[in-house]
Amino acid sequence: MEEQLRKEARRLLTEGEVAVVIGYGWNSRKTRVTPVFITNPDDADKLVFNALCVNNLSIYLTRKYKDIKALGKPAIVAKGCDIKNIVICVSEGQVARDNVYIIGMSCTGVVYKQELWQGELTDNIMPTKCHNCEVRNPHVTDIVIGDKVDFTPPEEPTGMVFDKIREFDRKTPKERWDFWIDHFNRCIKCYACRQACSLCYCERCITDKNQPQWIETSAHERGNLAWNLIRAQHLTGRCTECGECERACPANIPLNLVNSKQALIVKESFGYKSGFDMEEHPPMIVYKPEDKDDFIK
Ligand code: SF4
Ligand code: SF4
Ligand code: SF4
Repeated sequence: MEEQLRKEARRLLTEGEVAVVIGYGWNSRKTRVTPVFITNPDDADKLVFNALCVNNLSIYLTRKYKDIKALGKPAIVAKGCDIKNIVICVSEGQVARDNVYIIGMSCTGVVYKQELWQGELTDNIMPTKCHNCEVRNPHVTDIVIGDKVDFTPPEEPTGMVFDKIREFDRKTPKERWDFWIDHFNRCIKCYACRQACSLCYCERCITDKNQPQWIETSAHERGNLAWNLIRAQHLTGRCTECGECERACPANIPLNLVNSKQALIVKESFGYKSGFDMEEHPPMIVYKPEDKDDFIK
């Protein structure tokens, strides 16, 4: 699979079809993979693809990465779950479909180690998204690398996040409130969640504005709640549950729980799943006169 990937990258760069290939390469100790930006066909052998390729590289297609855009048309190595973010980025004008070459990777799942407090790491864990994945065979591509994967996702979503959601649904409103206040109080306002998310692409985030100042910038209970609620709302119906925000959060706030619960509500209410159709906009940002709820009229 890696050989096929490298061959395609070499061809794209040699023939000038793209100016850069955004993909995964080993770190210096070969203990984890890191994003690489290949511009020379001779460097195509640096590309790797394996179960450690958890990062969602679609962030580099957003407009704020001007230096990468300046190189010319990119090709991107993308798993199906990453492609869901690319679909939203295209539908929202962050990148034109013709301006990106998508190298879709057949995928059987990724693993990562979660960092706990004081630098402790968990064993390798497979994220919940992989247990329920509908896109192991990538769905929007210019080429597919790898063999077809035979996998049918379960009808009812399974895995740690959904177990927690079911447990959470049984709690009283006060218990839920206390749960989230406890978690959000740990937020240190580092904005790693925002920086890791390709759908949090505003060049000037509401949290950075100070005239007027909408959100307190210090890591304070009030500001923390406002920040986390506003971010969740801005992602409602758009979030693809890629999990990068939670993976990036140094305070271990269970952001996937918010993301997946919201995705479930949007699916139940509007029959919409994010990241599959470039022509369709998420329900929270479209207005339809035939909307059945009066409040919108
Ligand atoms: S969610 Fe699907 S495409 Fe993404 S890493 Fe997991 S198995 Fe692969
Ligand atoms: S899971 Fe997090 S990083 Fe991924 S799209 Fe949703 S909010 Fe963004
Ligand atoms: S990554 Fe975590 S700690 Fe940092 S701002 Fe986001 S929620 Fe807060």
